[in-house]
Parts: sequence; structure tokens; C-alpha cells
Amino acid sequence: MNEIHLHNTLTNRLEPLSPLHPGEVRIYTCGPTVYAFAHIGNFRTFVFQDILRRFLRYRGYRVLQVMNVTDVDDRIIQNAAAAGIGIRDYTEKYIQAFLEDTDALHIELPEELVRATDHIEDMVTLIERLQKKSLTYTSDGSIYFRISQFPAYGKLSKIDVAGMQAGARVDVDQYEKDDARDFALWKAPKPGEHFWDTRIGPGRPGWHIECSAMAMKYLGDTLDIHTGGVDLAFPHHENEIAQSEAATGHPFVRLWLHAEHLILEGQKMSKSLGNFYTLRDLFAKGHKPSTIRYLLLSVPYRRQLNFTEDGLTQARNSVERLRNFTARLKSAQFAEGSNPEIQARIEKAEADFDAGLADDINTAIALAAIFDLVRDVNTAMDRGTFRQQDAPRAVAAMEKFDGILALLADDDEEKLRKLGFGTSKPGLSVSQIETMIEERQAAKKRRDFKRSDEIRQQLADSGILLEDTKDGAIRWKRK
Ligand code: AMP
Ligand code: ZN
Repeated sequence: MNEIHLHNTLTNRLEPLSPLHPGEVRIYTCGPTVYAFAHIGNFRTFVFQDILRRFLRYRGYRVLQVMNVTDVDDRIIQNAAAAGIGIRDYTEKYIQAFLEDTDALHIELPEELVRATDHIEDMVTLIERLQKKSLTYTSDGSIYFRISQFPAYGKLSKIDVAGMQAGARVDVDQYEKDDARDFALWKAPKPGEHFWDTRIGPGRPGWHIECSAMAMKYLGDTLDIHTGGVDLAFPHHENEIAQSEAATGHPFVRLWLHAEHLILEGQKMSKSLGNFYTLRDLFAKGHKPSTIRYLLLSVPYRRQLNFTEDGLTQARNSVERLRNFTARLKSAQFAEGSNPEIQARIEKAEADFDAGLADDINTAIALAAIFDLVRDVNTAMDRGTFRQQDAPRAVAAMEKFDGILALLADDDEEKLRKLGFGTSKPGLSVSQIETMIEERQAAKKRRDFKRSDEIRQQLADSGILLEDTKDGAIRWKRK
């Protein structure tokens, strides 16, 4: 088996994964800011993180992943105040929506999903450590980190620290995303604003301190992996490094992994630009959870993902192909025995799949390994060289792949119904469709064309189209 290599933003190189605690990989993931529904750009990054953790577990590692929920920031405070409710009440709806969305996409929950507002004490303690080391200053009740005191500042994003304005300050969360100056660790309350009364004064935490405090609380001073979208590398992650390493004196993160953006018509999909689709927008247009999961995972995480209708159609067909193939393996009858060439072919696919993911989670290579296998095995089945004992071996391989891809469960209708979408009449499952097709074939064989037409019509009524192929096999697809 190939060693797992991951691209480290810090060194700009592929590096082998060698966890600090043998057998266990500790990961911190910047989670959603819960002032609105997450969009599919956000889910691009979350699906990548899901593939990463599933692959590590497939390789036998224990995974300890922490994801934060940013449930306090300027927008949350403003929106909650405008709605006349507390910030916990305001964010609850979006946290629930996030959990429902991740469930629909088969994204596994991290071992710890933690809210910023439950960790104010940890943040205060971390700020006190920085104060003791004289790395902070206070101005108008807000506490800032003095980046000139941290010589390694800029090492992640390679920004030019010398060009930054010394002593200039930033204290607005949204603004902080593009600014490179002393950043707020703690913000004094504005009149009428929600605040916490703490040892370091009244106020609320800055965005960056959240992640440092929660990451180190659950994972220790040094983490194996920290993930997020590329937009977070600077200044958010740069600031996390500064706060954490200045406080502990230890390296904060060994491998920094950043997912490239999902792009819509040439622009990054983002809430602030307004060019976004939530998952629910796409469900309302009739797209399925598995289609979206496939589309999001199909492009390797360090490449931009261009979101198009065409891409959705291809993704839907690809999922269908995987499901049809697995159903055919489970239900069709083949000649007795086993074919060593098929067994070897399956082993090669497994090795290629694994090697693709070990190479910086290259999902395109992993998927190509599966689709090449599907093509070759389908051909063998059509030619009669596939044997009955090869079927369980091939099913086992598909299930192994699916431990990471999570696309085979035919549960789209169920997931959609849970969210209030979809038809009141459940759609036919893949195995029901396969059974009806077999029954139709049997009817045709005994020349009962009335029955075979009836079945074709029943399938058509449920949105299933049949296609007779040259070699006599039947393919089907959903309308
Ligand atoms: P936010 O809720 O804005 O804090 O973002 C949650 C995660 O989604 C972060 O890791 C972001 O970097 C990531 N993200 C935001 N926009 C996009 C996008 N268009 N494509 C991929 N990831 C994104
Ligand atoms: Zn973060």
C-alpha cells in the first residue's frame, strides 16, 4: 500500500502523513458560520473533509476530528437583534439545517461538533496567556494581538508582512477576511450588543481565537491536520497560527489542507456576493442528494470546481451507473465457477482506487479506477466470461469503495422526504426496478407480450425508461 501523501499549504509540498499519536489522526475543521443556510460551495469543502476522514478510517486510522460552529459574529449579532431574539435562538435554526444538510449528503459528523459560545472560558484563558507574554494591547476595551511580536507571521500564506501597516487595527469580522493587521482577540461590546462579562472585561471573542482555543482544547497543542477552504488561509489560519504558537511555543499544525473553491460562472460562490445555491434550492429544482454529493467529490479538492447544469446531469448518470452495476451483480445469474482474470481485475481496481486517494485524495483517479472496473466487468458479463462466484467478490469491492464515496444507498427519496421535498409516492428502489425488469424479460421469453408491455408501462409511470442494448441486455435510467 502506498504511503498517504497530502499537500501541505505551509511548505507547498506533498508530505507523508505521520500522525503524532500512532494510529490516530487528529483533525480540526473550520465549520459553518450559522447566520444563514450553508451553500453548496461550503459543502464542497465539507464533502472533501468527509472523504478525507473516511479514507483515513479505511486505512485503519482512528480519527479524532473537531469542527467548530461559529455561532457568534457581527452578522449573527445584527440579525438576531433585528429579529428581536437571543443569538442562541437565532442560530439554532441554522445549526439544525446544517445537521439536516450534512445528513442528506452522507457527510459524517465529526467526533466533536462544538459551538463557539460554549467555549468562551477557554478563549478567555488563551487570551490571558497571550497577555502574560505581552503579545497583546488593549484599545477602547478591545484586545488586539500584536503581530509584530510574532516574527513567523505570514509563513502559511507567504504574505509580505513588511508591507503591512504596523499598529493598524481591524475589529470587524467580515473585514478581517481581507486585512492583514493587528487583529482583535476580544471585542468590546457596542451599545445594546450581546456580550459576556469575563475576567478580561465585557465583550465577545474575535473569530480567530475561537478556532485556536477549541482546536487545542480537544486535540492538544499540535494537530496532525487542519482543513478549510482556501479563502481561510489568510488571515484566519495565519492568525490561528500566531495566537496558538505564541501561546504554547509549539508548532500548531503539521499539515494544512485547503480546498479550492466551487465556482459559478467564473466567480467564487459566496453568501456575500449573493451568487449561491443552498442544497435546498437544488432539491427544489428536482436534484437529488446523491447527485450533489457525487458532483462535489468528483473534482480533486485542490482544483476549482466549476458548477454547471451539465455537471449535475453527468453526476446523476454516474451515480445511476454505479447503482445499476451493483444491482446487476446482486441479482443477475451467471454460469457457475469463478474466473481468475476477473478476480485479478477487481484487485487491480482496489489498488488503483487506494493509490489515487493516497495521492493527496485524488478522487478523480479513484473514480476512474471504479468506472474502468464497471466497464470491464459489464463487458465480461455480456460476453459470458463472468462467473457466479465472482459476483460476491465484485459486490464486496463496490461496498468497500462506497465506505468512502457513500453513493450506493438508494435513499434519495427518503432524504428528500425528511426535508419536505419529493413526491408523496415513494419512487421505485433499484432492486424493485431490477426485479420488474427481470420479470419483463421472463414474460418476453415466454412470448407473453401483454405482460411485458404492462411492466414497461408501470416502469414508465414511475419515471423509469428502458433501453434495449445490442447485446440483448437491458439498461434503464430515471427520467
Ligand atoms: P463559512 O460558513 O463562510 O465560514 O464557510 C465554511 C467553509 O466553506 C469554509 O471552510 C470556507 O472556506 C468554505 N467555503 C466558502 N465558500 C466556498 C466556495 N465557494 N467553495 C468552496 N468552499 C467554500
Ligand atoms: Zn476556523
